[in-house]
Amino acid sequence: MNQCTSCPCCGADSSLWLSTNDRNRNISDEEFGYYRCVNCGLVFIDPIPEALAQYYEGGYQGIPESIDQLRELAAKERYRLAPVLDKCGGDLLEIGPWIGIFSLNAKDAGFNVEVIEMNAGASNFLRDIVGIKVTNTNDPRSALIDSEKRYDVIALWHSLEHLPKPWEVLEAAAKRLKPDGKLLIAIPNVDSLQAKLMQKYWWHLDAPRHLYFWSPNDLERLVNRLGLVTEKLETNDRLSDLLAVGAWQHFFEEFIKIKYIRGAFVGLVAPILAKFSQKMGRGAGLTATFRAPV
Ligand SMILES: [Zn+2]
Repeated sequence: MNQCTSCPCCGADSSLWLSTNDRNRNISDEEFGYYRCVNCGLVFIDPIPEALAQYYEGGYQGIPESIDQLRELAAKERYRLAPVLDKCGGDLLEIGPWIGIFSLNAKDAGFNVEVIEMNAGASNFLRDIVGIKVTNTNDPRSALIDSEKRYDVIALWHSLEHLPKPWEVLEAAAKRLKPDGKLLIAIPNVDSLQAKLMQKYWWHLDAPRHLYFWSPNDLERLVNRLGLVTEKLETNDRLSDLLAVGAWQHFFEEFIKIKYIRGAFVGLVAPILAKFSQKMGRGAGLTATFRAPV
């Protein structure tokens, strides 16, 4: 494995941060290298596996059989609407919605919702069952560039880290916002306490499906350069808490062999560590909103 390479975003030198394999799904034994750019801070996998689709086998979450089933799931995640509720009734685009939990909540709250989704099955479900306008493509940048439409909200809930050249997608998205429109980005926090401590064992590394990461500061710098102003950037929101507890629990379940000790760590220590890291500003997830100029 190379010890250094060039950053795909800015071209600067980048040294090997860590190497790991597909620990979450064990699709193959292949080793993947993640590098960190000394200039823009981007953490990136290199090379991107050619047969990336095979690593998505099994999916993250099954496609529901009905809109009622989706609504049942969505009811538990209404809190994700909070950062954009001031734009209620406006035009909202979600990039990478998968089964559309956030999109359905947004639609039910009164937004005019559209999505860009790469998976054909999820796209059919969203279009035919949920009644949302869908662009089915694995090239969201082109879909954004080809459209004239502008949005009050563009949201990427844990999809940015899966996209090829995500900085180009953000650049195109920034241009599709209405004046004072909002860009919402949620990604795993590569500067979280658990990423630092667990390294290659960090659950949210999710190699090789997660291609890119930014620290809160580096993401902010990137998006501010596109002309958007930071509204809020936090690592202690509810989703971050769920991500943190889940990853600590998974870590303890894997490495603590004595049942009762494992139970105590999973049940007690994991939530405490999650809260502690959030208090430090080093939570497992990063949720940010940025505003377009008025
Ligand atoms: Zn760079």
